[in-house]
Amino acid sequence: MTTQRIAVILRNGQPDETVTVQGWVRTKRELKEFAFVEVNDGSAMANLQIVIDPKLSNYENIVKQLNTGASIEVVGVLVASPAKGQRIELKASMVIVYGDADPQTYPLQKKRHSFEFLRTIAHLRSRTNTYSAVFRVRNACAYAVHQFFQERGFLWVHTPIITASDCEGAGEMFSVTNFDLTKIPRNDTQQIDFSQDFFGKPAYLTVSGQLEAEVMAMAFGNVYTFGPTFRAENSNTSRHLAEFWMIEPEMAFCDLEGDMDLAEAFLKYIFKYVLENCREDMEFFNDRIDNTVLATAENMINNQFERLTYTEAVALLEKADKQFEFPVKWGLDLQSEHERYLAEELFKKPTIVTDYPVGIKAFYMRLSDDEKTVRAMDILAPKIGEIIGGSQREERLDILERRIEAQGMNKDDLWWYLDLRRYGTVPHAGFGLGFERVVQFMTGMGNIRDVIPFPRAPLTIDF
Ligand code: ATP
Ligand code: MN
Repeated sequence: MTTQRIAVILRNGQPDETVTVQGWVRTKRELKEFAFVEVNDGSAMANLQIVIDPKLSNYENIVKQLNTGASIEVVGVLVASPAKGQRIELKASMVIVYGDADPQTYPLQKKRHSFEFLRTIAHLRSRTNTYSAVFRVRNACAYAVHQFFQERGFLWVHTPIITASDCEGAGEMFSVTNFDLTKIPRNDTQQIDFSQDFFGKPAYLTVSGQLEAEVMAMAFGNVYTFGPTFRAENSNTSRHLAEFWMIEPEMAFCDLEGDMDLAEAFLKYIFKYVLENCREDMEFFNDRIDNTVLATAENMINNQFERLTYTEAVALLEKADKQFEFPVKWGLDLQSEHERYLAEELFKKPTIVTDYPVGIKAFYMRLSDDEKTVRAMDILAPKIGEIIGGSQREERLDILERRIEAQGMNKDDLWWYLDLRRYGTVPHAGFGLGFERVVQFMTGMGNIRDVIPFPRAPLTIDF
């Protein structure tokens, strides 16, 4: 007989069925007539209640070991539960304890622990209600991402994690080297001699797979990446990780309107999928973490996103009856407080801001005819700020070369990227979505370090 997942038993199990379950003890209660053990296997928020009869052989020895955290296997028969709040329970005929957990030292006690404390036990925190719900939702989100793109014929492409192009994230990149750091080779002028390094030149962890995704879009039309991304952000914020996952679709024969339409449909799709498939977890977040998450998700699915230009956004911010910490002025980048004001207070829904000043956006974004703005779009979400950054790309060789030079970059390093504009160039567009920001937005979790199993941030790498 195979083991069954507790989620399946709780949903479909029928009285008199014999089942085997495996999981970890959440709680134990010993009464005169029976011992009750709540067991959880991570498949659902709810536990399965195990009823153990004192007549079971070796009863005392077994029950003694069934402490919170112990791993067990139980064979038994399902019975309708007299207890309220659960339909079914399992009457044990055999209990195997794989590993006990000393109640004197097991760090997860029944009381509520703070997220700060739980971050210090990242190897155990997934056994709590909150984190197991977060990681189930995260899994469902990831599945929905692939389903959305695959249904539409997008190819999933794997872009490199180690890269030589430092054009996007100057200053924010982690170096990759196999130099012995105590004796780094230097040349006559005391510069580091990268010709002796592994790749023969400086290498970094990627901050984005976009440039390579563009290469693939020029062969397959529509592609997407979904992989890890690294930024040596010194900002210790609740929205930044040093290692996070990014989804970057890239579409040939597509302009900014098509890009926005796809981004909006995409966000709606994953929210809908999670609401339909993780209802119990989402209700938990709504009850315990943030009582607006269900309404926010519904609102997201059912309403059109607000769309306005940067120029219009700045005018609204200048008129706002609110003191901002950072200045608002045409030409300056929007800060998180401005983004949140727009999405959270003014429009109260996801908001797409387009056509940013050329001076604050990347070289590859398509220059508009006014030559003052580029065809960029950011999607701002209530509470989080930016969750998507995208643009129509500059497909005209001469203008792209001019922009690269204007930013003080060397166009020879980007020869292959420029080749895409030499051979069969087409209008194209794409965006980048921070996966953790979406999970954060969806669950209401306040800190991005709580939506990835092993967060990497300044001075944070123990697990
Ligand atoms: P921010 O202004 O919030 O730092 P950004 O402008 O640096 O964002 P992009 O370079 O456009 O962001 O990256 C695309 C997406 O990746 C962002 O919209 C965001 O969702 C996500 N993202 C960016 N940096 C991080 C980070 N350090 N940790 C987690 N997600 C991030
Ligand atoms: Mn950033």
